[in-house]
Amino acid sequence: MDILVFGIQGAGKGTQAKAVSLALGLPIYEAGAELRRLAAENTPLGEEIRKVIYTGRLVPPGMVLLRIAEYLEHPATVAGVIYDGVPRSYEQAIAFDEMMKEKKRDSLAIDIELSEGKALERLEKRRICSKCQAIFMPDYESEVCNICGGVLIHRADDNPEAIKVRFANYRKETVPVIDYFRKQGKLLTIDGDQSILDVTKDIFNQLSPLLKLKKRLKDEEIRALHNMK
Ligand SMILES: [Zn+2]
Repeated sequence: MDILVFGIQGAGKGTQAKAVSLALGLPIYEAGAELRRLAAENTPLGEEIRKVIYTGRLVPPGMVLLRIAEYLEHPATVAGVIYDGVPRSYEQAIAFDEMMKEKKRDSLAIDIELSEGKALERLEKRRICSKCQAIFMPDYESEVCNICGGVLIHRADDNPEAIKVRFANYRKETVPVIDYFRKQGKLLTIDGDQSILDVTKDIFNQLSPLLKLKKRLKDEEIRALHNMK
């Protein structure tokens, strides 16, 4: 099963996508990280992506889907993939869905719902590791990263004006994608206004019957997924 994780910035989309990937033993496809990796390569494709990124344009949807198609050739992706950051637009969602049907892959989407007000509150409080870039939400009470020990800092673009622009983009580009999966009957909605651990618990309560998982995740297993003792 391919699982697409959605959520407004601040809802913990990336964090939860990683937890689902770890718990299910499925690889994660992070669109942003993948593009940055490709852009750093000294290849014609890398150069093309650099041009697109540096001029502030969005990477053409066809290019994104082509990369995913290539990625799915990898044997490790047979049982499923967790997607973080795709599809980016309504058109891309339709193309993605068609590609998955062609490849005879089942997919479902998870939407971690959080109001813009709550998301704004969280983003203003959130911290990022200065060394490994891991993101920490307000319910993480420490000054240092629990992964690498780096100092946690406030991200420069987590200021109210920049956040509002990101929210507007989310409403315009991503909400129609979520609606698309809802109309297909392929959407799980999760209340994002809970602790990180409770969100993960809710996700697995909903996923377990769909994936026919035999055992329930214990609380300590959920904590371990988030590197918490
Ligand atoms: Zn770190």
